[in-house]
Amino acid sequence: MESKILDGKGLAQIAEQEIKSKVSELKNQGVTPTLATVLVGVDPASATYVKMKQNACSRLGMESIAIELGKDTTTDELLKTIQQLNDDEKVHGILLQHPVPTQVDERACFDAINVSKDVDGVTCLGFGQMTMGEPAYGSCTPAGIMRMLEHYQIEISGKHAVVVGRSPILGKPMAMMLLNKNATVTICHSRTEDLQGHIKNADIVVGAVGVPQLIKKDWIKKGAVVIDAGYHPVEKCGDIELVGIENIASAHTPVPGGVGPMTINTLILNTLLAAQKLV
Ligand code: NAP
Repeated sequence: MESKILDGKGLAQIAEQEIKSKVSELKNQGVTPTLATVLVGVDPASATYVKMKQNACSRLGMESIAIELGKDTTTDELLKTIQQLNDDEKVHGILLQHPVPTQVDERACFDAINVSKDVDGVTCLGFGQMTMGEPAYGSCTPAGIMRMLEHYQIEISGKHAVVVGRSPILGKPMAMMLLNKNATVTICHSRTEDLQGHIKNADIVVGAVGVPQLIKKDWIKKGAVVIDAGYHPVEKCGDIELVGIENIASAHTPVPGGVGPMTINTLILNTLLAAQKLV
């Protein structure tokens, strides 16, 4: 049987219609959901990601406030900006685009975001709350993946999920979200021995590595669910070898058009929820 395509792009488009009507309801009550985006430095990829998030806001009738800080910004300067946004009642969500220049203490700046405005799910407090099953905005990429798995009714409970990557914004929260849905989770990383052996046992594989096609299709168990969070614009591929995967997996995310659109959509949804004060 051919693998089912988990169409993140299509799903995000459907979700946008619902978000748009809720935004309009809220605006009728005098509240415009507003996302503040903070970009530090001149990384072109980061600038593109921020632009895409701002475009999504305007498409849906939401407000975005763009803050651009120079490449020499200090930690103190960035902390001050975040504090101003925390104090600004018009701002419902704050996105600090990762990565910031190396002289900035990124963790301190993430954690300075008020958890009620942490719509990108980057604070330690938000991560802890999500892990404990308390209401919190999950980190957007894994939360978007979970929404996709739910939509396509992919069974998670009791399944063996292997997450390749353990970054604070992707691999770690992904593992915790799958664990919270009763998967048995293995987390692999750069020091893992026998990566192939772990993946061969996986019912669900999540590639969150940042290395083009590191995970080979021959490592995937027949019938596994394959989620590729990676995107490499130059190579035009993800972290998993997907050519031919349709004859091996039971379901898979395409690249592009899988995880990426759901990440942005989840950020926008979280900003709406923050404006509705529902989380
Ligand atoms: P990251 O911070 O660089 O983390 C990469 C992780 O992969 C680390 O935990 C690293 O292990 C592990 N790793 C690296 N080489 C490995 C290897 N040979 N074998 C096993 N594990 C290895 O990257 P990230 O921010 O999590 O992003 C991962 C991927 O997701 C990238 O392709 C990125 O573009 C993509 N991404 C997509 C979206 C989206 O919206 N679609 C959002 C965020 C990220 P160590 O911890 O041991 O170093």
